[in-house]
Amino acid sequence: MSEQAVGATENSVAHLPDISFGSLGLAPSLMRGIEDLGFEKCSPIQAQILPHTLEGHDAIGKAQTGTGKTAAFLITLFNDLLNNPIEGERYLAEPRAVILAPTRELVMQIADDARQLGKYTGLSTVTLIGGADYAKQLVNVNDRVTDIVVATPGRLIDFIQRGDMYLDRVESLVLDEADRMLDMGFIPQVKRIVRSTPRKEDRQTLLFSATFSQDIMNLAQQWTFDPITVEIEPERVATENVDQRVYLLESRDRLNVLKRILATPEATSVIVFANRRDVVRKVHERLQKQGLDCGILSGEIAQVKRTKTLERFKSGKLRVLIATDVAGRGIHVDGVSHVVNYDLPEDPEDYVHRIGRTGRAGEKGVSISFASEDDAFLLPEIEALLGESLKCTQVPEEILAD
Ligand code: AMP
Repeated sequence: MSEQAVGATENSVAHLPDISFGSLGLAPSLMRGIEDLGFEKCSPIQAQILPHTLEGHDAIGKAQTGTGKTAAFLITLFNDLLNNPIEGERYLAEPRAVILAPTRELVMQIADDARQLGKYTGLSTVTLIGGADYAKQLVNVNDRVTDIVVATPGRLIDFIQRGDMYLDRVESLVLDEADRMLDMGFIPQVKRIVRSTPRKEDRQTLLFSATFSQDIMNLAQQWTFDPITVEIEPERVATENVDQRVYLLESRDRLNVLKRILATPEATSVIVFANRRDVVRKVHERLQKQGLDCGILSGEIAQVKRTKTLERFKSGKLRVLIATDVAGRGIHVDGVSHVVNYDLPEDPEDYVHRIGRTGRAGEKGVSISFASEDDAFLLPEIEALLGESLKCTQVPEEILAD
């Protein structure tokens, strides 16, 4: 098996040319879904993998969550299914594509992304997850012809064993977070599922894993046919270009301190992150009331509006954005002077994502995290991930002074 490594490290990724989705020749209904989501250009993993996988090649991707890997494999699947419609009769419970993921949450998230991306494609997605009602899932499977199944391995095996699902017509197989499936002891089940699909020369197989251990590479070689290999390094933990500050304050003082920070002349382009949508909404309302023109990015805002807000922010017409983590992930804007963490994220990885919105493209940035009685307990975990301790101070006098 010949293997062609096309990926490399973050440094070389930085030199990748920008690839727009429009240049990939995707099916128009898929393109509409991508446009609705506000994706403008390919993320590095998409730029590296799509030119190959869209031609039908297998791929092994080393990539973590947050890189855009889900869209990378979904776009591949959708485009292939759309370009090769099945002539003649279709049968129930015979999916054309199977996506396996280790956890229920991940399955739900992938299916959610699939529904959004595939909104205009007419392709149907079904989820099969353990711990949930089998009978209900069976009703969904038998409701109409299924194109894509997103499943945890155990539940899909149940369906296969009971004769409720047949994989012999599968054209595409995606194994997401293969290393976690290995750690969680799912490999025997995954092997059975893979054996239930057509042989590897007759299907497209895409395998993703955050790490490439020898075990994973062995499995990847068994399951894929002449794959390309792409590696995307995770976002560097806490870039040295970000001056990370932590202010200890009472929760009720946060809004006031935020206003003071926004009033400093250095705060030229600011993203404020909060964990919850309602908090994002409240902060946005209060700042608007003060006459401050700021934008809001959260799941409860229509995508079209989010895209417009982001455009205004990118062009410098809007100085302040208030965002939740999920909505904030897609923000790739240079020149952000400050990131403010209105509260500390529960997942330390989100801290890294948040502060990585500033200090980009070799510029210096400042992150200010509020730590209050409600969330200061989250600091040690963040510090553990960073591998360094964060300096916590009271809010500096010059910010509080009138
Ligand atoms: P993932 O790594 O699949 O978990 O994706 C991380 C986030 O990036 C998700 O919220 C996606 O909606 C978003 N995303 C994926 N591709 C792009 C893109 N090309 N441009 C902007 N955002 C994207």
